[in-house]
Amino acid sequence: MDTGDFRAWVRESSRLITEQAGELTELDAAIGDGDHGINLRRGFQAAVEMLDDAEANTPGTVLTTVGRGLISKTGGASGPLYGTAFRQAGKSLGDVTDVDAARLGGALEAAFNGIQQLGAAREGDKTILDALGPAVTAYQVAVEKGGDLAAATRAAAEAADRGRHETGPMLARKGRASYLGERSIGHEDPGATSTALILNALATVAA
Ligand code: ADP
Ligand code: MG
Ligand code: MG
Repeated sequence: MDTGDFRAWVRESSRLITEQAGELTELDAAIGDGDHGINLRRGFQAAVEMLDDAEANTPGTVLTTVGRGLISKTGGASGPLYGTAFRQAGKSLGDVTDVDAARLGGALEAAFNGIQQLGAAREGDKTILDALGPAVTAYQVAVEKGGDLAAATRAAAEAADRGRHETGPMLARKGRASYLGERSIGHEDPGATSTALILNALATVAA
């Protein structure tokens, strides 16, 4: 994937999040404060605008620019978490101009680690990590089996979709949803859902 492909990923993420903002907000209304779709739509639209203005000419700078945009405009718990994820992913790419399957896997792992360190959640806590964790693993398994970048991103998106659905029966242990205790059970997590959208956008662009 080159710089143009990474820009396309951000635009496709923004498009999907804008399209699904109502659903994300509904999910957040059930176990949070009903703003996840609004937050992320604002954040991604700002990120796209920043990218249009910025001279981001490597994949790494595209992702770090998006990270900055998300941190400054998203708000909520998810803004700093996604912002950190994109910044760490961008940093991990250094100044490489053509990202191969192995490097993209490293970037996804860096994103996971960034969220984990900032938010101190674990897989199973009903958060973004419950979509991103399985996605990183599925990606790496696909690459080990000889899959190319397109196949690995497809595997990651499918694992994120499954992971997102698996948050339904989980008890929330981090973020606002954790205030609900047992009442958080039976609703899918909004952040895991938006992560699945972002990874589906990646698979679409990489196909
Ligand atoms: P807020 O809860 O501040 O309104 P959002 O609604 O934008 O923020 O985002 C909520 C989502 O953030 C949750 O659905 C969850 O996936 C994610 N989240 C919250 N806390 C954490 C955390 N510590 N680690 C990972 N993800 C988290
Ligand atoms: Mg919210
Ligand atoms: Mg909020």
